[in-house]
Amino acid sequence: MDAFYDEGTLVAVLTTQPLDRALDYKAPEGGCWQGAFVEVPLGPRKVLGVVWGPGRGDFDYARVRSVIRVLDAAPMRDELRSFLERAGDYTLTPLSAMLRLATRAPGLGDAPSMRKIYRLGDSEPERMTDARRRVLDVLSDMGGLALTQGELAETAGVTPSVIKGLAKTGAVREEEAPRDTPFPRLDPDYGGKALADDQAVAAQDLRAGVASGRYGTVLLKGVTGSGKTEVYLEAVAECLAQGRQALVLLPEIALTAEFLTRVEARFGARPAEWHSGVTVTERRRVWKQIAAGGAQLVVGARSALFLPYRDLGLVVVDEEHDTSYKQDEGVFYNARDMAVLRASICAAQVVLASATPSLESWANADAGKYRRLDLTSRFGASLLPEMRAIDMRAETLPSNRWVSPSLQSEVLARLQKGEQAMLFLNRRGYAPVTICRACGHQIGCPHCDARMVEHRFLQRLVCHQCGETIAKPETCPSCGAEDKLAAVGPGVERLAEEAAELFPQARLAVLSSDLFGSARALKEEIEKIAQGGADIVIGTQLVAKGHNFPLLTLVGVIDADLGLQGSDLRAAERTFQLMRQVAGRAGRAEKPGVALLQTYQPEHPVIRAILSGDEEGFWQAEADERRAAGMPPYGRLAGVILSSTEVQEVFDLGNAMARQDAPLRRIGAQVYGPAPAPVARVRGRHRVRLLVKAPKGVALQPALAEWAAQFRLRGELRMAIDIDPQSF
Ligand code: ADP
Ligand code: ZN
Repeated sequence: MDAFYDEGTLVAVLTTQPLDRALDYKAPEGGCWQGAFVEVPLGPRKVLGVVWGPGRGDFDYARVRSVIRVLDAAPMRDELRSFLERAGDYTLTPLSAMLRLATRAPGLGDAPSMRKIYRLGDSEPERMTDARRRVLDVLSDMGGLALTQGELAETAGVTPSVIKGLAKTGAVREEEAPRDTPFPRLDPDYGGKALADDQAVAAQDLRAGVASGRYGTVLLKGVTGSGKTEVYLEAVAECLAQGRQALVLLPEIALTAEFLTRVEARFGARPAEWHSGVTVTERRRVWKQIAAGGAQLVVGARSALFLPYRDLGLVVVDEEHDTSYKQDEGVFYNARDMAVLRASICAAQVVLASATPSLESWANADAGKYRRLDLTSRFGASLLPEMRAIDMRAETLPSNRWVSPSLQSEVLARLQKGEQAMLFLNRRGYAPVTICRACGHQIGCPHCDARMVEHRFLQRLVCHQCGETIAKPETCPSCGAEDKLAAVGPGVERLAEEAAELFPQARLAVLSSDLFGSARALKEEIEKIAQGGADIVIGTQLVAKGHNFPLLTLVGVIDADLGLQGSDLRAAERTFQLMRQVAGRAGRAEKPGVALLQTYQPEHPVIRAILSGDEEGFWQAEADERRAAGMPPYGRLAGVILSSTEVQEVFDLGNAMARQDAPLRRIGAQVYGPAPAPVARVRGRHRVRLLVKAPKGVALQPALAEWAAQFRLRGELRMAIDIDPQSF
């Protein structure tokens, strides 16, 4: 049981402000529990905090200020507090920043009197001011949804009095906030399917794990369509039956719609959702119900790991190899690893599901740290797709064409049978390069070391690093020549143009993240395709993930060599995963599928491994290579990114850090660099990177912290430490 602090006792309150430790306050009238969410004075302001433990008492008691009030939220449990501490230690993130991840509960700081909610009314106010306009704009953007006074005031940047004033005019409607209702109960026995033999064996193992009430991690490896989802839903069922909560993480919001339907079919009701597409009001409800136990199952994005579960018994990380689980901004963490950490603290089971696991998980299973369950065949009659290369050296293609004659005729054959084909190219936009044919100038981003990518759909040139967009110029910005700017290379939009010419009768659907304004629009397009509303699907990475297109029998990969370029050590792993994943889209129902890979290097070992499907052989070879190089997962890596507007400053600091490496040498680690970061300038800031390589099993984080603490960051200099970086 957590400690209770009587009024006047000193408590240490951790706030979300960037301070290096919790501050002492006096417990308020009526006292407070450890873990309580509170409002405390900090300088002239009132800020949100959590009672973290007893106060230190190293300050004159009389001068210590009091907690202002205890907020109306369930106290943060011990388990979540330890998780934040340990995750902060692992990622070298200050605890205050970790706390921010766990307090993204909308309206948490609202006083009970602020619990009124506001929506757009029917009339315009007689007197309009800028502030009033902002409030009305925010509400009209909410599309009929309500906001609390606190949320509305903050979003619109106005004082509550502006809102009250508008409510009097009728331009805004004021209502009592609805009481947060629990989610409908899920029934673990509702819609279970009869499982195939290997599925039943795997499901039994997972159920036993959950029933044990202990921590454990399982790698559930199964080819696409083998029924991994069906199997891990059995683990969810067991968790529900045990009265504990379950979390399923998905890498992409676009996948949740299909998944929610499956959950409903399996458990008779819909679960709670947690991702950026969920409204503020709903998020507040989800947060509260998770803490109160009124949400049994949460389906969410990586941030759902930081929710205040009452009793978390299972975390499923679907498509565990997916790179979007790594957050590469602010707090650098990998949701897969954090799921394992949290589960180990709260005695939960973790299921890592994938057709193409990360080398990390494969190695952890190999070393016996994770259990491993394999599903080797597709469920029912459907077979794995056949994979073949199209040797592009033998194909004749006119310039600015990317679909080879061989691929073209295969697509035609499918169309004639009324089946679907997919053309895959992992490049957004129309063309990756815009070049002047008079002087050779390439249009680059003004703020980054990156080329501007033409997007015809948006009618702009776009920087994929910082998002800057410009109109496509008529004349070359360098030499002034007119009408000489040419699009070079293919993007998915250009491929769509080519497909429209090659297959004029076919109905095309283009799936690329920037073509859809909302998750809903994307979801509708995906449903349309699944129901046969398109003949050819043209897409980027987005189509590689878990979607079920039953009519799809052919996947054509336009450039299988794309991911193999560059010096990234993970290039092989990534390409292997992506190609197998895309190919897995073909032949998911009764009709057999084929995947054709256009390549200029069919003998390349990675391409050969993809085609042969010898996965264990591929992983073994990758593992051997990494082991020999002392690279992850057989060694540890950390990236240090230094950035500044001044290029000299970053190199000076980088060089100093490389020289003063005593704390690292003591643990046998080496520093490489400084070198320009993979993208050397982003948003006007120059970036260099140092890589720290350490043997496995040493205490890397404390050494890194000691090393980094030797240097002061003056002026514009910033340092970010990325433990287990994705690319190296
Ligand atoms: P994966 O997650 O491995 O890609 P899924 O769980 O999505 O595989 O299963 C692929 C398809 O086969 C789905 O449509 C699923 O409903 C169906 N399926 C899998 N196992 C069964 C089963 N035991 N009974 C009925 N349908 C099943
Ligand atoms: Zn840019």
